[in-house]
Amino acid sequence: MIESACDFDAIVIGAGPAGSLAALGLARRGHAVLLVERESWPRHKTCGGCISGSAIAALNTFGLSDLPRTLEAVPLQRLDLRIHGVNARVDWRGGLALSRRSLDEGLVQAATRAGVQFLPKTRASVREATPIGRVVALHDSSGRERLIQGRVVVAADGIGGSSAPNDAPVEWTLARRNLVGVGAVAPSAESSLASHCLRMIADRQGYVGMVRVEGDAICIAAALTPASIRQAGGVDARVREMLAAASVEAISTEMRWKGSPQLTRRRRTVAAERLLFAGDASSYVEPLTGEGIGWSMWSGADVVPLADEGIRAWTPSIEQRWQRMTTTTRRRRQLMCRVLTRAIRQPTLSRLAVRALSTQPFLINTLTWSRQASLGASRWSPAR
Ligand SMILES: Cc1cc2nc3c(=O)[nH]c(=O)nc-3n(C[C@H](O)[C@H](O)[C@H](O)COP(=O)(O)OP(=O)(O)OC[C@H]3O[C@@H](n4cnc5c(N)ncnc54)[C@H](O)[C@@H]3O)c2cc1C
Repeated sequence: MIESACDFDAIVIGAGPAGSLAALGLARRGHAVLLVERESWPRHKTCGGCISGSAIAALNTFGLSDLPRTLEAVPLQRLDLRIHGVNARVDWRGGLALSRRSLDEGLVQAATRAGVQFLPKTRASVREATPIGRVVALHDSSGRERLIQGRVVVAADGIGGSSAPNDAPVEWTLARRNLVGVGAVAPSAESSLASHCLRMIADRQGYVGMVRVEGDAICIAAALTPASIRQAGGVDARVREMLAAASVEAISTEMRWKGSPQLTRRRRTVAAERLLFAGDASSYVEPLTGEGIGWSMWSGADVVPLADEGIRAWTPSIEQRWQRMTTTTRRRRQLMCRVLTRAIRQPTLSRLAVRALSTQPFLINTLTWSRQASLGASRWSPAR
């Protein structure tokens, strides 16, 4: 089809942090960009709403350092841990709490201000490559299909995404003992949870995190084994069971849970001709450390120079370089996540760690700072 012209320089699929920042970066380089999102907008996303230091650094790199303040993000100052029956409260300047509805809406607005065309309520699926571009089928809410073409496609459609074409099919390698994600936001719910405090509760079958985000709403997210959800008789019952076991009072409001598929995974092929996968769509480790948003933002930033080069002239070396970069950064950034997520499942180890944190609170900040110092080094400027 369409061999004569491209409708856009870049078509970006998925308006999460990876997609919005990739679209923004490409628009700032003077390209015509379409950002396609399947949900009606703004939307709630299953997420704990904790914005880490590396996410804040990514926003700064894009000249968006004011965005969290504008959106009334809440600075986090304390960590309240209840893990395998041991409790600890530590001072921790670990980032910000902000609902994904607000954050993602703010990022899309920044992208549209830079000239990105935004198309919500439209599901995209990637089709064949042509000599000049990549075909994308757009399906609107009434099921109508429209074919368009971009010189390059960035698929940032998350772990639940389904946009892959035949030459780069969805081939996820899933972790053996996997968890599923669930989340909800309770507007102005009654709870003893203090503002500025991240509460984490863990048992052998998963963990729950709670924070107050903008407007005093409570954002609650959990990663749980499917078996424990079944045993408890559903997500709501399972989360309430964990809160009760940790002596945390239940949230008064009824929670409307949204779920995600099995979490820990990586995609074997993250690039094909004129197609690059970014953010969670390329790989994912459990959300325990609250690094997912930051990681996706940097992935959205990193894809820009390669997509930019591909828009001008596509070469197979772009695919190879993106495959290499994604593998290297995934290994480096996610090693710590793996260590932590495994440790938290070991009651004896995590009890010792929680006791160490309650007597030596500087440990948590040392750990967080050293990780953040290793992130974001030698970055390009997306606004060049
Ligand atoms: C339970 C849980 C708690 C978490 N808590 C935190 C936390 O506190 N802090 C943190 O940093 N990270 C957290 N994460 C991780 C974080 O949510 C993700 O890493 C981050 O959202 C990934 O961003 P992304 O842009 O890659 O993908 P997403 O944010 O998933 O965005 C993908 C977008 O693509 C859209 N889409 C999908 N398919 C299509 C299609 N075919 N066409 C068009 N659009 C499509 C989706 O609707 C979605 O809007 C958590 C995750 C889970 C599951």
